[in-house]
Amino acid sequence: MHTIDGQQKQDIKSMTLEELQQDFARQGLPKFRALQVYQWLHRGVSSFEEMTDLSKTLRGELEAKYYISVATIEKKQVSLYDNTVKYLFSFPDGECVEAVLMQYHHGYSLCISTQVGCRMGCTFCATGKSGFARNLAASEMLAQIQAAQRDQGVRVSNLVLMGMGEPLDNYENVLRFLELVSSPKGMQIGMRHISLSTCGIVDKIYDLARRKWQLTLSVSLHAPNDAIREQTMPVNRRWPMRELLEACRFYTQTTHRRISFEYAMIQGVNDSDACAKELARRLEGILSHVNLIPVNAVAGAGYEKSTAQRLQAFCRILEQKGIAATVRRTLGSDIDASCGQLRRRHKEEVT
Ligand code: SAH
Ligand code: SF4
Repeated sequence: MHTIDGQQKQDIKSMTLEELQQDFARQGLPKFRALQVYQWLHRGVSSFEEMTDLSKTLRGELEAKYYISVATIEKKQVSLYDNTVKYLFSFPDGECVEAVLMQYHHGYSLCISTQVGCRMGCTFCATGKSGFARNLAASEMLAQIQAAQRDQGVRVSNLVLMGMGEPLDNYENVLRFLELVSSPKGMQIGMRHISLSTCGIVDKIYDLARRKWQLTLSVSLHAPNDAIREQTMPVNRRWPMRELLEACRFYTQTTHRRISFEYAMIQGVNDSDACAKELARRLEGILSHVNLIPVNAVAGAGYEKSTAQRLQAFCRILEQKGIAATVRRTLGSDIDASCGQLRRRHKEEVT
């Protein structure tokens, strides 16, 4: 429930088709009306007015009871190198989140945010540094996709939950979003085309595994041991690496899906040969792939990115030890495409 124009209104785009049907049935409306409305919502309309096959009376009734979440483009940056588009979206309460649209040979992939800010406080991350404001509703995650699609006139075929926020710290809403976005009567982006990135909320990884969805799990590891990981990722104190890697092993064994381990290389912190060897040992026997990227320098963090040669050398050690690894190409490097940076600058500009 939200108060809009002084009235309590319900978030209709976060409702599943079944919930909408039940709600409509309670109001004495026929079942097929719920499907009609659901399809309009998932095609991305921003008002009930646009639902032209409903009577004016019904549109008015819906307007009185529900609201439709939309994301408004506040800022937009287009990369000169590779057509990557970075958005700063705002919601009616004034909060902003970022999303990045990337073009690959197989289609368009959108990286979306799941929270305004983040509670996890990783020291290298711009989002972590700017604190936490609130969770996003499922409808606000859908709204980011719809706004990007409308802006570019394209269909997004792949999703990455790797923007601002920790998806597993907003678990209920993220689960609801995943069900909605993959639903046959909705946008139909299948689980195989969705990646979810987490800093390692262990109990939720077990829960996700048990659902046996064909989702790709990315785990932000960024260190080969607790001593280093604790320095940069406070979450490691709650769930140390041994517990995290056990959960990852369970995830791969239960879902038969490979896990992507993210590893941002920070000069002099986690990028030595010894780190590579230790990492290889820790990942032994887990169906995995390591993505190495140079850390993106964030103001105030005091970290330098490792050199390209260091990344290559680190990658080679992992491969020699039988761990699949790649040095990831970074898209949109000229437009701060790493999460949290655009919002942080925007906030500094307006305050
Ligand atoms: N909270 C989730 C997803 C959002 S962060 C998570 O942490 O996985 C998305 C990715 O960007 C994560 O892999 C995160 O570790 C990485 N990241 C954050 N700040 C970065 C930086 N300055 N340089 C490189 N990667 C960064
Ligand atoms: Fe949050 Fe992920 Fe940033 Fe850590 S890296 S602060 S978990 S968004």
